[in-house]
Amino acid sequence: MFTQLPQVVIGAADLCAAFLFMFGLKRMSSPATAPSGIRVAGLGMIAAVLASFLYLFTVDTAAQPHMILNVGLAVAALLIGGIGAWVIGRRVAMTAMPQMVAIYNGMGGGAAGSIAAVELFGGHSQGVTQLVVTLLGGLIGAVSLSGSVVAWAKLDGIVKQPLRVAGQQFANAVVMVVTLGVAGVIVASSLGVEGLLLTTPTWIWIFFACALLFGVLMTLPIGGADMPVVISIYNAFTGLAVGLEGFVLQNPALMIAGMEVGAAGLLLTVIMAKAMNRSIANVLFTNFGAAAKPKAGAIKGSERPTEASDAAIKMRYASSVIIIPGYGLAAAHAQQKLYEFVKLLLAANVSVKFAIHPVAGRMPGQMDVLLAEAGVPYDMIFQLDDINDDFATADVAMVIGANDVVNPAARTDKSSPIFGMPILNADKAKQVYVIKRGQGKGYSGIVNALFYAPNCNMVYGDAQAVLVKMIEAVRGLGAAAA
Ligand code: NDP
Repeated sequence: MFTQLPQVVIGAADLCAAFLFMFGLKRMSSPATAPSGIRVAGLGMIAAVLASFLYLFTVDTAAQPHMILNVGLAVAALLIGGIGAWVIGRRVAMTAMPQMVAIYNGMGGGAAGSIAAVELFGGHSQGVTQLVVTLLGGLIGAVSLSGSVVAWAKLDGIVKQPLRVAGQQFANAVVMVVTLGVAGVIVASSLGVEGLLLTTPTWIWIFFACALLFGVLMTLPIGGADMPVVISIYNAFTGLAVGLEGFVLQNPALMIAGMEVGAAGLLLTVIMAKAMNRSIANVLFTNFGAAAKPKAGAIKGSERPTEASDAAIKMRYASSVIIIPGYGLAAAHAQQKLYEFVKLLLAANVSVKFAIHPVAGRMPGQMDVLLAEAGVPYDMIFQLDDINDDFATADVAMVIGANDVVNPAARTDKSSPIFGMPILNADKAKQVYVIKRGQGKGYSGIVNALFYAPNCNMVYGDAQAVLVKMIEAVRGLGAAAA
């Protein structure tokens, strides 16, 4: 009965999925429409999974009885994957998002690699072109899988130090050449060439082992702080691998989703690298931040601490305040308290704006998401180019858990690793308050001259604890007035 299921239903579901993926991605381009974009893309994924599932029923189960077993396996996989992802997705902390993206991305690469493995071991490829595409998808998918797992381990703190040894890049190149050589042997074997020493399945095992090893070797030397960019690169790889395997299976939903992910991952990588003023090669082949040492005598003076209550009262009586959130805000989970404080300022007729740097935090868009989660209206949130001129007329710039994105060395110090990176002009405000726990450095590991500037005071403490004191101070003023 099921073998008669019209292909048109599957085709329609594929088309629907492709449309929903594209429409969802389009809506993700603005914070206002992003939540609905995620939901739309999720619906697309449901349509794609349904279409793939229906394929199982188009097969003649009398001729291929093992397909009944496959249906059971598919249902089990859907339940395990669906329930697992639902539970993890609900529990994950905002600061652990990069790790989650890394591991999910690795699973995508692994899925593409598995499709390639099934095709290769089953000898399903029709012709050399299809075989080469399958091998390419398998290679990229396997590299993305093992590389993403290492990236996850680094982000999660399981692997702490970048592992660097002399001649590492040469060794990586050798592994890649061997992998490509083995792929060549597999193609030769499919063409009937004899005397290849090992059986084809053994070569396929060696091919995947080399590809997985390459992913590990390529990622191990990269510093943990560069992992978000690396994940973005692997994201592009996974998309490409999925798209290639979609081509092999002639599955339009896979092809479109894969190419979309690939293109989006590539664009994101370029945007991140540009916002950090670094090349992608610099991210992949240097240990950023490790060699960064403050220039002796480059910064004079000392940091000047002040009380949270004093800073809060100054802001309460200011006309304009610009707030610069950074990684520390996410680490402290302080976004709700921040907005509570901002609402008190707004009630006192203070003009408040949020200034967002494109690479503030550890993931693009992390600050926008945090502020949206706290309920901050979108019209209070401004991106770097739209707000940078406003600092010169602002009474107060409040830097909360941010560091590198306000470091003036990016403008002035040619020897700085962040030289050339566009920064938020917090130092141009009349008064700057920096909320951070102590002398901790930012992602780049360099000293920030802003903290020593005459117009800057430090408010030491965990961002959330400081904001609680600030809220109390401003409320205290109201109570005293009453
Ligand atoms: P930084 O990493 O430069 O600085 C964060 C600061 O937050 C630290 O100096 C730390 O100081 C402080 N901090 C940490 N925890 C807390 C806390 N609980 N309460 C208060 N303060 C805290 O962050 P930025 O957002 O300014 O810059 C992001 C950096 O990450 C840039 O260099 C960017 O290039 C890089 N990056 C960003 C990516 C992205 O996509 N967003 C991707 C890859 C890299 P202390 O320890 O003293 O508290």
